[in-house]
Amino acid sequence: MFRALLLEKDESGQASARLTDLQDSDLPPGEVTVEVEYSTLNYKDGLCLSPTGGGLVRTWPHVAGIDFAGTVEQSEDPRYRPGDRVVLTGWRVGEVHWGGYAQKARVKADWLVPLPEGLTTRQAMAVGTAGFTAMLAVMALEDHGLTPAQGEVLVTGAAGGVGSVAVALLSHLGYAVAAVTGRPETEGYLRDLGASRIVPRADLAETVKRPLESETWAGCVDAVGGAMLARVLGQMKYGASVAAVGLAGGAGLPATVIPFLLRGVNLLGIDSVMKPYDARLRAWGRIAQDLPMEKLEAMIHPATLADLPALGAQILQGGVQGRVVVDLR
Ligand code: NDP
Repeated sequence: MFRALLLEKDESGQASARLTDLQDSDLPPGEVTVEVEYSTLNYKDGLCLSPTGGGLVRTWPHVAGIDFAGTVEQSEDPRYRPGDRVVLTGWRVGEVHWGGYAQKARVKADWLVPLPEGLTTRQAMAVGTAGFTAMLAVMALEDHGLTPAQGEVLVTGAAGGVGSVAVALLSHLGYAVAAVTGRPETEGYLRDLGASRIVPRADLAETVKRPLESETWAGCVDAVGGAMLARVLGQMKYGASVAAVGLAGGAGLPATVIPFLLRGVNLLGIDSVMKPYDARLRAWGRIAQDLPMEKLEAMIHPATLADLPALGAQILQGGVQGRVVVDLR
């Protein structure tokens, strides 16, 4: 028997979470069974935990949790053996497949990544999809020529999960980081992570009035989307790139094409879910190398399975700071 947070639907069609015991035979088919040590909470987990499943969960009962890290218990795949430490993000695990909010998970071997040397399972979940995606965004900006000498890099939704890791990574890599936040009380936290300038959310909240504003940012990691992304496009330096990661502020893009045409600005799409294996390995390797662990520690909010329903609602309101780490041991 093992503990799990099970999502079930009632007759009215609303889903709710219940802490319960499951057996190995309850787990879905898969090649590798993992003893989950830690999981985490991302924006998407908030959607999956909501009464409707956020349009992501299709069948109930369901175990949510889009990320987990732990130790292989059993494997039918030669790439993994009992005792191997692994991490999983993406592949729609926790959405259409059972995920990490249980002490055991059974998944396809292709979805796993060996934990890089020097990273614990707890640290891997402090990173999670949010931090992994922040790394992918920074790598995309680098691939498009970004270097610290070019000027300030903007991070939107900075006090959230993606934003916090992006700020810490960029600052560690020598960039001057400007952090956009709607929560002035997070200023000390963001400066400790390495932000050298705090930009109030209100400064970028208004919709585009002039398609081009002064050239301010050498790069941007954007977790917010919507009107804020549209404004940021008009403030990018000539030839600079924005890595579009999220939609915490909306899925629309009320922008003009002028920044692309007159300033050669690039809008780079970042997807973490279907990322091929080699790129995953590279990103996890970079995380182990370039993310300062004492800064990662400062982002962590410890939690248990029982805390998740409330935290899920909170993250959808933009009310979670940094990274929630769920202890399943
Ligand atoms: P968080 O909730 O932790 O962070 C989002 C942050 O955005 C908040 O903390 C807040 O930052 C800011 N924010 C929230 N609401 C608004 C708003 N209405 N207007 C402006 N800013 C707002 O979520 P995550 O960091 O986990 O995820 C961020 C986004 O990235 C989500 O949309 C998520 O779906 C997406 N994502 C995409 C991935 C991909 O593969 N492309 C992978 C992972 C995440 P502050 O308080 O500092 O203003």
